[in-house]
Amino acid sequence: MAENTIPITRSSMPSIEEYVEKIRPIWENHWLTNMGALHQKLTDELKEKERLSNVSLFVNGHMALELAIQVLNLKGEVITSPFTFASTTHAIVRNGLIPIFCDIDPVTYTIDVDKIEALITERTCAIVPVHVYGNICDVEAIKMIAKKHNLKVIYDAAHAFHVQYKGRNIANYGDMSMFSFHATKVFNTIEGGAIIYQDEKYGEKLERIKNFGIRDEEHVDYVGANAKMNEFQAAMGLCNLENLDVEIKRRKEIAERYDMHLREIEGIQLKTEQVNVKSNYSYYPILINSEILNISRDEVCRRLKEKGIGVRKYFYPLTSEYECFRTMFDKQDTPIAKRISENIITLPLYAELSLDSVDLICKTLLQIIHTKAVA
Ligand SMILES: *Cc1c(COP(=O)(O)O)cnc(C)c1O
Repeated sequence: MAENTIPITRSSMPSIEEYVEKIRPIWENHWLTNMGALHQKLTDELKEKERLSNVSLFVNGHMALELAIQVLNLKGEVITSPFTFASTTHAIVRNGLIPIFCDIDPVTYTIDVDKIEALITERTCAIVPVHVYGNICDVEAIKMIAKKHNLKVIYDAAHAFHVQYKGRNIANYGDMSMFSFHATKVFNTIEGGAIIYQDEKYGEKLERIKNFGIRDEEHVDYVGANAKMNEFQAAMGLCNLENLDVEIKRRKEIAERYDMHLREIEGIQLKTEQVNVKSNYSYYPILINSEILNISRDEVCRRLKEKGIGVRKYFYPLTSEYECFRTMFDKQDTPIAKRISENIITLPLYAELSLDSVDLICKTLLQIIHTKAVA
């Protein structure tokens, strides 16, 4: 077995000089965490450059989501998608809420808005939809459903940093949106995350709940957690934000190169471009049709890995199929999500990936599926 010569992802980093320049002041003021100057600067720059009105930074995306749900004081059932990373469902369940799994759309892989209303009961308090791979949910339909049934909406926007819909930042939809700034995401702060919220009234509680609920030296208002972003994370974010345009431009070139090779291949479904959406090219998923290609998704993955190409079954399994949930909830049927999760592969995509590597990955992939189809 060849060792992986092309990884699935590679974190974007500034030059070491850029980073050192950003952290130098920390050696003068010894302010390492607790909402220091770099934390403030990153908050301000995100607001300005990403055109967001309210931003609250967190130590990671998961804690941001978990605490955002707490701030909204939800009780009962939450309608969500099982085609996601562990974090989304965990954040719901760790808040004592019951996830109700809605099926997904077979083209965008996001929650199927035509199936939401049938799942609403008197216990439903919120919808937690997930933007997937840089595709966005049908935010307008979700807004209408939420309004009609008086539900809160919190988007898991971990994949959707910088994505625009009709010229606006996607995080301006819903009551709140969570961005992840994890090392593997389009924009990273090493680990990190943010909540973007529409109503200013949530700001104070978000700020306190990530710092033990502390208001001031003598007053503690909430049973909070510790989920503060530190100054070294913020410094990394400030550097990476300066390089964001280059990052996304590179990713777009790579995605277009993949498209060029794979667009016409029968049996492979690509991520389709959505109308009015400016993507961030965060992932490059392909959906394998094993009937047409006469080879299973798992076999394709195994053989790509053998050739030194890092690929991932992402997302597989569905969160609703996790061992830890098996005895907790009634099994809900989401046949489309199941089919997608059993046939999806994400290919390597990161700014430093060369176009030659993309050519090699596609050539190898086509060899694998075609030799098998003929055999
Ligand atoms: C990365 C990710 C998260 C969690 O973010 P962290 O910053 O790693 O805690 C949540 N949801 C989705 C869909 C993700 O991809």
